Amino acid sequence: MTAPQVVDLAIIGSGSGNSIPDHRFDDKTIAIFEEGVYGGTCLNVGCIPTKMFVYGAEVAEIARHGGRLGVDSRVYSVDWPGIVKRVFGRIDPISVGGKEYRVDRCPNITVHSAHVEFDGRDEDGRYRLVTAESLVLADEVVIAAGSRATVPPAIAESAVRYYTNNDVMRLEELPKRLIIVGSGYIAAEFAHVFGALGSSVSIVARSGALLRKLDADVTTRFTEVAREKWDVHLNTNVVGATDLPDGRVRVDFEDGGHLDGDVLLVATGRKPNGDRLNLGSIGLALDADGRVICDPHGRTDAPRVWALGDVSSPYQLKHVANHEERVVQANLLKGWDSDDLDTFDHRFVPAAVFTHPQIASVGLTEDEARDQGLDITVKVQAYGDVAYGWAMEDTTGFCKVIAERGTGRLLGAHVLGPQAPTVIQPAIQAMSFGQTALEVARGQYWIHPAMPEVLENALLGLEI
Ligand SMILES: Cc1cc2nc3c(=O)[nH]c(=O)nc-3n(C[C@H](O)[C@H](O)[C@H](O)COP(=O)(O)OP(=O)(O)OC[C@H]3O[C@@H](n4cnc5c(N)ncnc54)[C@H](O)[C@@H]3O)c2cc1C
Repeated sequence: MTAPQVVDLAIIGSGSGNSIPDHRFDDKTIAIFEEGVYGGTCLNVGCIPTKMFVYGAEVAEIARHGGRLGVDSRVYSVDWPGIVKRVFGRIDPISVGGKEYRVDRCPNITVHSAHVEFDGRDEDGRYRLVTAESLVLADEVVIAAGSRATVPPAIAESAVRYYTNNDVMRLEELPKRLIIVGSGYIAAEFAHVFGALGSSVSIVARSGALLRKLDADVTTRFTEVAREKWDVHLNTNVVGATDLPDGRVRVDFEDGGHLDGDVLLVATGRKPNGDRLNLGSIGLALDADGRVICDPHGRTDAPRVWALGDVSSPYQLKHVANHEERVVQANLLKGWDSDDLDTFDHRFVPAAVFTHPQIASVGLTEDEARDQGLDITVKVQAYGDVAYGWAMEDTTGFCKVIAERGTGRLLGAHVLGPQAPTVIQPAIQAMSFGQTALEVARGQYWIHPAMPEVLENALLGLEI
């Protein structure tokens, strides 16, 4: 092992953590540790590549259904290797360039391409960070180590060849038959991508519905739509999986049934990476969900050790990780003991599922609002009720808004349908800035006849 490197700041993880050092950190010596591909999950195996695939899937879906609009269109073939090349031909150079920038152009920063763990503190109180080849002593540390895909024991402990989001987007050919185990947003997005591009998709879900954490109306409608186009197995427990002699895979169910496919994709959730950092050596424990515990300023219980993003956040979303990174960045500059620290804003965290139909939500579900004993008014407006919905011949989309009766305070919005993540944005803005349902509906123009009119009409339909 080489002589220890002493730094002012160590950052574990090159996803959102990589955005911390800007010109204001030029006078600090910094070590960045990255055991995987530089740039983290969103860039390499998460949000960005999935959405690049999703866009192609949308085009195929529209072409396949052109007949409804009197357009004779169809999907003749899909050049899967070409799509993979297009996506990663753009992404891989960004990852490589991001690392090169830190290595070649940032003299105060050292990149360690290795797995790192804590090893207590030295006699001066500096944190000992060890990799297989180096020891770094850091005054201050940011844990931005993200999360990883979980795999059910029945599959992990079998010898079967399975894929996760890490490698399924680089398959050499489009599988004829894809089995997806999981029922959350990653499963729903990949089902759309592969289904629309031509695979026959089976989804195996332990629960009784898909996307069951969303508002019940969204969950119900999405599950109905999904069952019409994919082979959906609900309430189904996977107890084993095997590679078949002909190269396919078999997934065994608890009820004695089984399913065969060409490729098995596991999308059963993500686990924070804090359990792989030897945090006990610096006196840190994880919460019941495996997250690094930190306060609303990003401070953990270990002095000058901060945490952000998937490793510690209740929201495993990139826009949240980015926000938390900006808060921690500001607080690093202000200093651990500052009485003016920036604070995470988790009041109205929106989320989207880029499946088909698209889904977006913010705030409380109807059940959550009722469970809180709030006096609420709810309006569900169909896409088919507004002009752009007619134009699209949409039959399944809707926008549901929930507000407090009497005050008009907007409590939640849930959209299922084309452009849902865009349609919902005025509701996110209204909630964030404290505008009431009527203020946001009547205090501005809504472009006619655009899709957001479905939100405008839903707001106007509330019985405040
Ligand atoms: C398929 C998929 C699709 C997604 N789509 C969306 C979306 O549409 N919108 C959205 O908001 N979010 C989406 N997400 C979630 C989003 O990608 C994450 O919330 C976000 O990337 C988390 O950022 P982070 O900085 O916390 O962690 P990461 O970006 O994961 O960075 C952490 C890094 O730390 C490294 N690391 C971990 N432990 C160590 C260690 N001990 N030593 C050295 N390095 C280590 C990891 O290799 C990793 O590169 C998606 C995720 C997936 C998997």
